Amino acid sequence: MHEFSLISELLETVMESAEKNGISNVAKIKLIVGECHGALPEALSFAFKALSSDTVCSDAELEIETKKGILLCTTCGHEFSYAILQSMCPECGSFYLDIISGRELRIDYFEGE
Ligand SMILES: [Zn+2]
Repeated sequence: MHEFSLISELLETVMESAEKNGISNVAKIKLIVGECHGALPEALSFAFKALSSDTVCSDAELEIETKKGILLCTTCGHEFSYAILQSMCPECGSFYLDIISGRELRIDYFEGE
């Protein structure tokens, strides 16, 4: 599952940074996930629960904020909201689309003591 490797990377980043900052108990992690990234929030939460046990993040709450995906048709210049399985421009039918927003998956912040 793709989400497991994403979360395991994320946990590594948080744990490293927690250690540097003297945090021994992470209370909350906020994650920003773009719609176009393709990672499912439910699967991310599930992977987080499974992988965070026995770490400084075991009690942490994972908050996931989904960012809207915006696509741009490079043929006619039409901008539209991302929808799953949408692979062509609703205006002109072109398949040449650019993702202009919503591709990211990153940690917004985490906190603990
Ligand atoms: Zn178009």
